[in-house]
Amino acid sequence: NAIETWKTLDRSLLYMSDLESGLHYLLRVELASHKTLEGAELKTFKDFTILIAKLFPGRQPVVKLLETLQEWLVSLPLDKIPYNAILDLVNNKMRISGMFLSNRIQWVGCQGSRQQLRGYPCSLWTLFHTLTVQAAIRPEALRNTGFEDNPRVVLQIMRRYIQHFFGCRECAQHFEEMAEESMDSVKTVDEAILWLWKKHNAVNKRLAGAPSEDPEFPKVQWPTPDFCPACHKSIKGLHTWNEDEVLKFLKRHYSTENISYKYTV
Ligand code: FAD
Repeated sequence: NAIETWKTLDRSLLYMSDLESGLHYLLRVELASHKTLEGAELKTFKDFTILIAKLFPGRQPVVKLLETLQEWLVSLPLDKIPYNAILDLVNNKMRISGMFLSNRIQWVGCQGSRQQLRGYPCSLWTLFHTLTVQAAIRPEALRNTGFEDNPRVVLQIMRRYIQHFFGCRECAQHFEEMAEESMDSVKTVDEAILWLWKKHNAVNKRLAGAPSEDPEFPKVQWPTPDFCPACHKSIKGLHTWNEDEVLKFLKRHYSTENISYKYTV
């Protein structure tokens, strides 16, 4: 299958189209392999839904859908939920006005130069970086959720989501090892942003040159000096990161203000 027309992109922006396509894939494709949700899976999905309902920096119809999904999950007294009931809600079979999530996949910042490259895993990283930043800059959004006093909550829910649902099992295994090693040391919401950045760079390092690498998007230690010169410094000729600057950069890059709506449908 030839790739559809290449979409022009600005690598310094976030694209809502990637975030929405990622949510579509997560809710309508990845979750669909679980015919019923119960136990730890159900708890993880509920917590994940609370997180995105509160923190997803999205358009009104999408946020309304996430809020409705969250309220519905919380209100259900069942300890088992068939996936099809979730799908009906996501597809808005109830015709609740003003709620909608497109089912078209439109990767922009996450488009690959060939099919099978980039796409969903790229959007999942993007989603979770965005959520760690939103949790730090809008802490009031988590009020009354039970999550408000936990600076690690986004990372913990990401960890459980990856463990229970992420289709790439080898990735989940690797991520679990990193989480086990050091996630507990995170003490503030800013440290949570930096933890995820560091671990993502560790993954980039491991995957550089691997067959899954898109030659148009080589795995680099990110952000590169051309994106953020101040993030880099050299001590006695050795490269190190200026983490204060990295934090500022991440808070800017993954902020609502940096989102482009180009190519959203
Ligand atoms: P991605 O690595 O997906 O990055 C997406 C975008 O995030 C980049 O374009 C860039 O804008 C930004 N970015 C890059 N680095 C950082 C950073 N350090 N901090 C913040 N933002 C950054 N694949 C495997 O083959 N093996 C694995 O073990 C594996 N583990 C994974 C674990 C997780 C939790 C996830 C979500 C994915 C994993 N993947 C793994 C997939 C892999 O990491 C990439 O997502 C995939 O190869 C697509 O790469 P990409 O070029 O789109 O960039």
